[in-house]
Amino acid sequence: MKSRTCPNCSYTYSLKQYLKKPFWKGVFSHWKCANCGRALTFSTSRRILLAIVGVAPAVLIPYIARFFIAADFSAVLSWTGAIILVLVWTIGVFSFEIFVLNEEPGEKINRQ
Ligand SMILES: [Zn+2]
Repeated sequence: MKSRTCPNCSYTYSLKQYLKKPFWKGVFSHWKCANCGRALTFSTSRRILLAIVGVAPAVLIPYIARFFIAADFSAVLSWTGAIILVLVWTIGVFSFEIFVLNEEPGEKINRQ
């Protein structure tokens, strides 16, 4: 299964589109595909894995900040830099997210 792709119409979301909408949704929420209108949700197991890999480096922020401070950057700049680095990592990891069809009772009927 390809990441960021609609399982119904194979429409692949660009990273920009993904960050605009599905990225901010909760694990159990769903949304309509921008291309075919089919209700989609996340692969929960994939999302949990990505959350662990993507959010874990947040604990490293103080260490990264200290590294920058040791390299003679100001404290504000060091902390901002550390947070941005971890944020970029998190977004990068979540771009591998997988979408699945949202199976709702009653919605299975109008398939095909
Ligand atoms: Zn679609």
